[in-house]
Parts: sequence; structure tokens; C-alpha cells
Amino acid sequence: MQDFDFDDLHPDTLAIRAGTTRTEFGEHSDAMYLTSSFCVGSAEEASLKFTNQIPGFIYSRFTNPTVTAFEERLAALEGAEKAIATASGMAAILALGMAHLKAGDHVVASNGLFGATIQLFNTYFAKFGVEISYASPTDPAAWQAAAKPNTRLFFLETPSNPLTEVADIRAIADIAHANGALLAVDNCFCTPILQQPLKLGADLVVHSATKYLDGQGRVLGGAVAGKNELVDPVYLFLRTAGPSLSPFNAWVILKGMETLPLRMRAHCDNALKLAQWLEQQPQIERVYYPGLPSHPQYALAQQQQKGGGGIVSFEVKGGRDAAWALVDRVQLLSRTANLGDVRSTITHPASTTHGRVTPEARAAAGIREGLIRISVGLENIDDLIADLQRGLA
Ligand SMILES: *Cc1c(COP(=O)(O)O)cnc(C)c1O
Repeated sequence: MQDFDFDDLHPDTLAIRAGTTRTEFGEHSDAMYLTSSFCVGSAEEASLKFTNQIPGFIYSRFTNPTVTAFEERLAALEGAEKAIATASGMAAILALGMAHLKAGDHVVASNGLFGATIQLFNTYFAKFGVEISYASPTDPAAWQAAAKPNTRLFFLETPSNPLTEVADIRAIADIAHANGALLAVDNCFCTPILQQPLKLGADLVVHSATKYLDGQGRVLGGAVAGKNELVDPVYLFLRTAGPSLSPFNAWVILKGMETLPLRMRAHCDNALKLAQWLEQQPQIERVYYPGLPSHPQYALAQQQQKGGGGIVSFEVKGGRDAAWALVDRVQLLSRTANLGDVRSTITHPASTTHGRVTPEARAAAGIREGLIRISVGLENIDDLIADLQRGLA
């Protein structure tokens, strides 16, 4: 839909301009197309569109102009040939699996994944005969050791949730390819502003647009991006099965993305200051933040990411009781599991996002009872620190 060469533009510009279209009315801001279907001029045109012989909009489960604008903007930022939007981040991971896996295939996934992603792999993909193994995101050799002749997909998040472990995308992509597998990276925490996995050798990127892409905690959305030949099967699944993105949500996210570069820089600044402060507090055992020199993969994060991101986790001394007391005492931070919002949020992962994961799996993933995750928002850093100081007192 775009008639402009976007290759030489900076991310700040792409976030605002890529995917923009105008109707004959000349509207300056992106229009929203709330329509479930589209009319055709003739029976022949309908036939040509339905059989993919000519492009065009048919039905919003397939495509919709507002959704396409979001897809083009995200693809431009990720450096992808194509992006396909989904109803949520989980719908993106489901669609990726449905498109690229079959019974008898094997997947290697990092053991620090988002809780629902682990559930999806262990409960549903497994039910359809897909075998899953887990490997440490920080140990590329473990991925080679886990690979089998039927391994079709490597799947990782970096930095991981909630421990912010950083995986070496290029090293793990090389191992995936040597084993005939694809590498998919969940780029939710960094967004393309801080990290472009496709440029580091990943084959597919998945997003929860619910997080930083919207950035204001309003709607759910997701996407899968990569080369045409890998994204087209994902589109065919969505068009058939229906977890497609609503044009209303696409429009909200499209507007959110215009400030994504600015917001990501501000999230990184606030998060680094908070992490540095937390490291000085006697009640804190350990801080997890890729922008701190004490982080085990600090050097890798410096080279792979343009900033530490907005997620800071830490362990308070005193286990679950101390962690719950902190969660209960803060007044400014929101007690909610959402992240990537302008409002800072506080979560106790062991009893919430990872509450349905077995204690053994939780221990293997290093989610301890004293662990707290903060999604650092854009409030003034002094106010955030004062709130946590009150909570820790
Ligand atoms: C939230 C999240 C998801 C799932 O996204 P939804 O939009 O909530 O379905 C997947 N991966 C990561 C890393 C997330 O934080």
C-alpha cells in the first residue's frame, strides 16, 4: 500500500510514517476501517479476489486496511519482508506453531519463557504430538545438545521474563540452521527499537503488541514477522482459523507505535536508574537488569540491544512473605501483571504469571518466592523510588 521507499529511513521516522495510507479525502491521521467485509464491483472481481488472482480486501478475518497498515509499520521496523497481525501475542505463537509444526516434530524452547507460552507448548502442542525440550537461553551448547533429527523449531525470548536472561540470538540461530530448524524470537521485551532479531539471523519474530507497541495498556494484539515464505503459511492459518486482529485494536496500536522510539528510550532511562537504586538497598538480595554491569550477560546485552529495556526484576530478602508485603504496600505502582505500559506495574511472578506452572518447572526456571518484577513506566523516577522505599520500609 505504500508508494515510498522506506529503506533508508530511521526507526523514529518509520514508526510514524511506515504503513500510512490516505483515501481520496486526504486524511492526515490513519483512518480506521471498522467493517467486517468489503464489496466488489462484479462477480468476476469477487472470483479473482477469493482465489488470490488479484489483491484486494474481502473480509476482515483475512485482511483489513487498518490491520495492513499496522503490519506494514511493524515489518518496516523489524526489517521483515512481511508481518501478519494476530488477536494477541498468544494467538501469534499459536498461529506460528499451527503453520510450521506437525505431529512428530520436535521443538527446543528456552526455559525462561512467558508462562502462557509454556502452557501452550506443554499442554496443547504436546496434545497434537509435538514434542518439546527446554534449554537454557544463556547456554547455546545446550540447544545443540537438545536438537534431534526431527527438530523443526527453536523458540526463545530475550531478555527472558521475568529474569531478564539474555540469549545470544546469532549463536542460537546458527545452531538452529545447522540442525535444519527455524529460530523464532519473541521480541516483546525489546521491541524492534532496541533489538532486531531478524538481522541477527532469526527466521521469525513474534510480538505481543499488547505490551510496548500499544504502550498504554489499552488493547490486545500480536504479530508474526519474517520472510514472505515463512509468514504466508501463518496468514493462511489465521484466515482459516480466525484469531485475527480487530481493526479497532490495530488502529490503537498503530497510534501507539508512533511514540514507540521515544517511549523505549524513556523506559530504558527510568529502568536503569531504578535498577541502580535497588542494587544499593539492604533489603534486596539481587537485581536482574541487562543494563547493570553486574548482569551475567551485560556484555552481550550491550552488543545485541540498544538499551536494557523497561523490565527490572529483583529478589527481596524474606521470601514470599516479604515479596507480598512489598506488593501490598506500594501506592503508586499498579498491582497488575501487564507490562510495557506508561504506568509502572508490580508483580509477584511465582504466584501469578507463573502460578500455574509446576513448582519443579518454576524452580528450573529460577523463579524464586522472593522475586518481584517491575515494568518500569514513564512516571518521574523519584516518585517511583519513593513508592518502593515506602514499600520496603
Ligand atoms: C504478554 C506476553 C505474551 C502474550 O501476549 P498476549 O498479548 O497477552 O497474548 C507473550 N510473550 C511475552 C514475552 C509476553 O510478555
